[in-house]
Amino acid sequence: MSADNNESDLGCRSCRRLHGYLSTLAPRRGLQAADYWGRAVPGFGDRQGRVCLVGLAPGAHGANRTGRPFTGDGAGDFMYPLLHRAGFANQGEAVEIGDGLVLHDLFITNAVKCAPPENRPTPAEFAACRPKLAADLAALPRLRVVLALGREAFNSVLQLLREQGRIERLRDYPFGHGREYPLPGGPIVVASYHTSRYNVQTGRLTEAMFLTLLDRVRLLAAGEND
Ligand code: SF4
Repeated sequence: MSADNNESDLGCRSCRRLHGYLSTLAPRRGLQAADYWGRAVPGFGDRQGRVCLVGLAPGAHGANRTGRPFTGDGAGDFMYPLLHRAGFANQGEAVEIGDGLVLHDLFITNAVKCAPPENRPTPAEFAACRPKLAADLAALPRLRVVLALGREAFNSVLQLLREQGRIERLRDYPFGHGREYPLPGGPIVVASYHTSRYNVQTGRLTEAMFLTLLDRVRLLAAGEND
C-alpha cells in the first residue's frame, strides 16, 4: 500500500531549520542519501477510519527514510504488531512502502511532518505544521477518536482545537496515559505515552498497557463509552 501522498505537502519547505537538517542528514551506514525519502512524510491509512493516531514527527532514520509514519524504526517496530493484534492492521510488519500493510479503521499521521533534529520540533514548527494536521483530521469523515502519542503531539492537537474554537484552556486537559477527553460534537481525544524506544526500554510503556489502550480506543470508536 502506498502512502497517501498529498502532493502539496511533499515539497513544503516552510520550516527552514528542518529543511536544512534533512539536506545534510548523514545516512545510516551502508545507505545513500538517495535511499532516503527526505521530505515531508504524509499520513496514511484508512480514510474511512474512525480513529486517527497522531505521533510527534518522522524519525530521522525511520519514517524520514521510508516515507511512511512509524515505518522502519523502533517506535513502529513496537507499535505495528500491537495494532495488528488489536485489529487495526492486517499485519504486524512495517518495513517500507509496498510491504502490504493495510490499516483498518485507523489513519496515522504526525503533528510535524518533517523529521526534526533530536526528535524535537520547535513551537514554531508545530505551529507551522498544524494546518496540515488540521487537514488530515478534516479529511476523515467518520472520525471519532484522536489518539495522541506523547505529550507534545497531544498538546499540538489541543492547540489545534483551541485555534478552531473547540476548547478554551489547555490546562483543562492535562496529559496522562489513558486520559480521555470527549468534546461536544466529537472527537474524543485520548492521550498515550509515545511508543518510543526509550519509553519501551524503561518500562514506561509496556505492550500490555498499549494493547489495553487500543482496546479502549476501539470501544470509544464504536460509541461504547462506558
Ligand atoms: S514540518 Fe510541516 S510545515 Fe514544516 S516544512 Fe515540514 S511539512 Fe512544511
